[in-house]
Amino acid sequence: MKCAQHPQADAAAICIHCGAGVCGDCIQRTASRRVVCSQACAQGLAEAESTLAMIRRKTQGGHRLTGYFCVGAALALGVFAALAGADGQWGIVLLQSALGLGLGLSGYFYLRLANNHHEAD
Ligand SMILES: [Zn+2]
Ligand SMILES: [Zn+2]
Repeated sequence: MKCAQHPQADAAAICIHCGAGVCGDCIQRTASRRVVCSQACAQGLAEAESTLAMIRRKTQGGHRLTGYFCVGAALALGVFAALAGADGQWGIVLLQSALGLGLGLSGYFYLRLANNHHEAD
């Protein structure tokens, strides 16, 4: 492959944004140390990366929300189970305890997932 700017020069790398060949003289690096061929591509890549970071933050928020929802539902089931227990309806207590445990565990894992993402940043 040849450099997109200098047809006589062999490409030393490939622009990660547009895929054009880049010779040693044309190589530019972004803040994240990726090879690009031009300022325009550096700009385009920075925008793509900030969009990705935004999506990651949203996903992380989604995990946290799901986690809190699961934990909340587990607590509600626990209260219902306690009420059913007071009535002596042990079948319902067992069912709701199992459901609550499952939900509580899911919530715990979702919250852990959200916190792991946070630490990675
Ligand atoms: Zn490029
Ligand atoms: Zn070049």
